[in-house]
Amino acid sequence: MLETTDVAIIGGGAAGCAIAFCLAEAGLSVTIIEREGVASQASGYAAGALNPMIGNGIPGPLAAFARESFDMHRRLYPMLNELTGIDYQLQTLPEVRLTFDETEVPAFEALADRLLRTDGFAASMTEQWRIRKLEPRINSEFAGCVFTRGNYTLDSLGFTQALAAAAQHSGAKVRPGAVRGLEIRGDQVSRVLLEDGELDCGEVALAMGPWSRQAESWLGTYIPVDPLKGEILRMRLPGPPLQHEVVGAGAALYPKPDGLVWCGTTEDWRGYDRRPLAETRERILEGAKKLVPGIVEATLVTHTACLRPVTPDWLPILGRVPGYRNAWLATGAGKKGILLAPAIGKAVADLIATDATALPIENFAPQRFANWNGN
Ligand SMILES: Cc1cc2nc3c(=O)[nH]c(=O)nc-3n(C[C@H](O)[C@H](O)[C@H](O)COP(=O)(O)OP(=O)(O)OC[C@H]3O[C@@H](n4cnc5c(N)ncnc54)[C@H](O)[C@@H]3O)c2cc1C
Repeated sequence: MLETTDVAIIGGGAAGCAIAFCLAEAGLSVTIIEREGVASQASGYAAGALNPMIGNGIPGPLAAFARESFDMHRRLYPMLNELTGIDYQLQTLPEVRLTFDETEVPAFEALADRLLRTDGFAASMTEQWRIRKLEPRINSEFAGCVFTRGNYTLDSLGFTQALAAAAQHSGAKVRPGAVRGLEIRGDQVSRVLLEDGELDCGEVALAMGPWSRQAESWLGTYIPVDPLKGEILRMRLPGPPLQHEVVGAGAALYPKPDGLVWCGTTEDWRGYDRRPLAETRERILEGAKKLVPGIVEATLVTHTACLRPVTPDWLPILGRVPGYRNAWLATGAGKKGILLAPAIGKAVADLIATDATALPIENFAPQRFANWNGN
C-alpha cells in the first residue's frame, strides 16, 4: 500500500520532533522518518544546558532567536509534561564560570555586566572566599569568576522524546526507516524514497542533523553541515550532589537531578566517528580536574559520544530549499540545538503552514549557501 502524508520530516532529533509537534498540533498529517530511533543521536545525549546569553553568534546574529527559544522552553515544559507524562526536569541551575587567565578578566567583567542588564538573569564577579564558602570542591585559585543565576537545564533525551510523544498525541506518525533519496517533479518533491518503501508527501522537511549533506545530491544544492564530535563522561562524585554548573578552561561540569555529574564536552573534527575514545576520556578528566580537583575520586558511570551539526558560520540553516516550492531545511544548530529546538520547530512549522513566521530567522536562510564554494 502506498504511504502518504501532508508533511514528511526526515530526522527524529530535537529539530525534527519540534517541527512535527507544531505541525501536528496545527492539524496537519505528519510523518517523522527516523532510521536509528527518535533521540538516538545528539538530541538524546546532549548536556541539556539552556544558556541563551553566550556562545557562537551570541551576542550577535543568534541572540534574539536564542532568547525567544529559551522563553518558549519555559512555556513548553508544563504543557509537554501534562500531555505526555514525560518529566524532562527543566529547572534553573546557577552557573560558576571560571578563568585562570588574568587577560580574560575584562571579558568576564563585561559578561557579568551584560547578564546583569538582561531580564531574568543576575550575575556578579565573585571573590575566591565566596566560592570556597559556596562550594569548597570548586578550585578557588582562579583569576576571575562570574556567578550567574537565570540559566536552565533539562534532560535532552526526555525533552526530545516528549516532543515526539506530543506530536504523536496529535496524530503524527513515526516511521522507522532510512531515506535514500527524493523523487522530484519540476520544482517540487513528490515522494520520499526509503530503503524499504516510498512515502508520498505534500511537503518535506529535512532535519537530518550532521547527516544533512546527504541531501545535497538529492536536491542539487549546498547544505554545508559538518559533524563536530562531542564526548561526555557521566561521573559519580563522592559527597553531596554539586549544586552549580561549573564552566571554564575548556571544560564543563553539569550536575544532574539523579546526582551524577556530566563532564565534558569535547569538540573534535573526526568525521562520522561516534566511538567514545579512551584518549578523550583522559582529556576530559584533565579539564574537569582544573575546575573540581576532587573529580579524580569520582567513578565513571557512562562515557558517551555524539555529533553536533555545524555550519561554516555557526548559525542554523532554516527555510525553503532554493529552487523548490515544498522542501525545507531545519539543521545546523551546532552546540545549541536543544536550546534552539522550540524556536526551530515553530519557525519551520510556520513557514510550512503559512509561508511566514514572526520569529527572527532572517540570518539563517539556506540561500546564503546556495553558491557556497567552501571558502
Ligand atoms: C556532547 C554534546 C553536548 C551538547 N550539549 C548541548 C547543550 O548543553 N545544549 C544545547 O542546546 N545543545 C547541546 N548540544 C547540541 C545538540 O545536541 C544538537 O545541536 C542537536 O541535538 C541537533 O539536533 P538535530 O535534530 O538537528 O540532529 P540529531 O539529533 O542528530 O538528529 C538527526 C536525526 O536524523 C536522522 N537521520 C539522518 N539521516 C537520515 C536518513 N537518511 N534517514 C532517516 N533518518 C536520518 C538521524 O538518525 C538522527 O536521529 C550538544 C551536542 C553534543 C554532541
